[in-house]
Amino acid sequence: MRLQVLGTAAGGGVPQWNCACPGCSGARAHPGRRRRHASLAVQLDDGAYVVNATPDIAEQIESCAWLRPGPGPRESPLKGVILTDAELDHTIGLLRLREADALEVRSTPVVRHALHPFAELLRPYLQLTWADAATIPVSGKRPRYAAGSPEAAGWVSALRLGLLVYAPAMGVWPDELDEAFRQAACVIVDGTFWDDEEPRRTGISARTATQMGHLPIEATMERLSKLPGRRLYTHLNNTNPLVDPAAEQHEVLAELGIEVAADGMVIDL
Ligand SMILES: [Zn+2]
Repeated sequence: MRLQVLGTAAGGGVPQWNCACPGCSGARAHPGRRRRHASLAVQLDDGAYVVNATPDIAEQIESCAWLRPGPGPRESPLKGVILTDAELDHTIGLLRLREADALEVRSTPVVRHALHPFAELLRPYLQLTWADAATIPVSGKRPRYAAGSPEAAGWVSALRLGLLVYAPAMGVWPDELDEAFRQAACVIVDGTFWDDEEPRRTGISARTATQMGHLPIEATMERLSKLPGRRLYTHLNNTNPLVDPAAEQHEVLAELGIEVAADGMVIDL
């Protein structure tokens, strides 16, 4: 399966437009540290898909040679988008794709329902078709805009894509996910925060990482290191010390045999 990492940042990206924290300032000073919103390009048996439609989606498609259009003027190899959740950072890119003639969106039913306003906006522009994705529930956390909707298992999912399991947001690590991880040749998982207090310490939230729906790296790295396949963290928040390549936390992960995903990384599976 052909796979390219299109982005590795949590909501806002690195740098975030309205933030001057050390991580964002560092990325402004050193463009090599910039990270686009977390996303993947995958070539499945029935076509090419992007996993999550981020605010960076047009540039992300340009960055991947086999997603570029051609040979005709309006021929794109992109068949559709697979969603892990309904968060705006993972879905507003759908609006950016309105120039398409047709697009398939795969998600859970609850995510599809939440995105009904997007479907209505896009209706005059392109033909959207919806399908179910092969998902494992990992959090019942709703997006803030859907706070009035009931909590449900399908709000946040891990995706099983051939030999890969992709879980950019992981509020829990249930047995079903563990089983999928053990069968996978590669797992790319939630590395939003290094430790549980990081969101409170840095002032971005009154909640801990876990309360925000993200198990911190400190809580998952030992368990992750015991999995048989290749293991990577993605979806780094700009407060995560790992956004600085000189941070000592990189050595901690290297010793455990765990990688930090990078924008543009090609993974052979
Ligand atoms: Zn920042």
